[in-house]
Amino acid sequence: HARRIEAIDKNIWVEFTQLAADYKAVNLGQGFPDFSPPSFVQEAFCKALNGGFSMHQYTRAFGHPNLVKILAKFFSRIVGREIDPMEDILVSVGAYQALFCTFQALIDEGDEVIIVEPFFDCYQPMVMMAGGTAVYVPLKPREGCGPVLSSADWVLSPEELASKFSPRTKAIVINTPNNPLGKVYQREELQMIADLCIKHDVICISDEVYEWLTYDGTKHVKIASLPGMWERTVTIGSAGKTFSATGWKVGWAMGSGHILKHLKTVHQNSVYHCATAAQEAVAVGFQREYDVFGTEESYFHQLPIHLHEKRLRLADCLKSVGLKPILPQGGYFMIADISNLSNLKFPDISSTKDEPYDYRFVKWLIKEKGLATIPVSAFYSPEHRNEFQKYIRFCFVKDTTLQAAEDILRQWS
Ligand code: PMP
Ligand code: GLN
Repeated sequence: HARRIEAIDKNIWVEFTQLAADYKAVNLGQGFPDFSPPSFVQEAFCKALNGGFSMHQYTRAFGHPNLVKILAKFFSRIVGREIDPMEDILVSVGAYQALFCTFQALIDEGDEVIIVEPFFDCYQPMVMMAGGTAVYVPLKPREGCGPVLSSADWVLSPEELASKFSPRTKAIVINTPNNPLGKVYQREELQMIADLCIKHDVICISDEVYEWLTYDGTKHVKIASLPGMWERTVTIGSAGKTFSATGWKVGWAMGSGHILKHLKTVHQNSVYHCATAAQEAVAVGFQREYDVFGTEESYFHQLPIHLHEKRLRLADCLKSVGLKPILPQGGYFMIADISNLSNLKFPDISSTKDEPYDYRFVKWLIKEKGLATIPVSAFYSPEHRNEFQKYIRFCFVKDTTLQAAEDILRQWS
């Protein structure tokens, strides 16, 4: 095998999704809704499939024209500048492929990429496959403010972040709302990151797949909309998350044409384009959302309201059995502290050299209690994994699955 794939053969989603299936566990692990996308996009998909031969054939390599046009129109309004549909957008096979194209296109051997921990796990292998070196900086619970109750209590140290920039730094990756923590970066935090990017001439890769999911009045801010940042930011989005259709695998990268053209080079020589009918359906979905934006009819308005209630329900349930949840400001995951489970009966499963405590705990929970979650140390670098073994992640974008999980948790205490 090629050296570039050394030591990345294990994958948390492959491993734990299989384990959950093997044990027929109630699955609050992998992040996907257990309900259908809104009817307007489902109908658009069916209409596309029945709409003649062209929807079954190739379309434009860098994005189906209807889709890039409406993405540009929609996000021009959000970013506050004219986005060019043909130059500034690349439609990809999910946000995954947009990320892959970004790293392959921009990172060279010897380049450093700063990654904020905890991070969506694929950033590290993607940087490595591009020949780059990941440099980590952690979000840490604020000290001296009492118990940590919200993802807002986890912050970057500006000094520590500044110390990670070197002459070799090519890019920084941020994720807001963050998976797994649910942190939504505030404008001042983004400005601090932006200032460093500008000072050191560094690109910002901003993964915003959960951009519509924020709670309690928290606002999502696009770092690309800050002064001087459009020219150096690649923003990643996902129709899977946007329209609760993760299986459609439509995503995009958006940014200045002078950067995006390099992502297109990777894309045209690897994937070429993604499914035409799915892109058409997503285009219809965005047109509809454009028309009802800011009203109560908007799915981007309704979905977070639906999830807000689930998030509080899950937090209450976790608290009632002695777990300490950290309330997320955004996204569809919640992490909970498992270090003091006095109410729950479970055997002593101390960590070993091969396996962190949270991995062992999650495996035990799947096998013995039939409930699947994800160990949070999987979202840390190998260097820091050992310091973060006391949290597990729950997914709450669920209807009946959430009820079934509550039943398991309540019986267990
Ligand atoms: N980024 C983050 C933060 C994610 O949680 C995910 C997973 N859903 C992705 C990217 C990949 O998204 P997609 O399913 O569109 O490939
Ligand atoms: N992004 C989803 C999660 O974090 C799923 C990722 C995957 O299945 N590869 O759970």
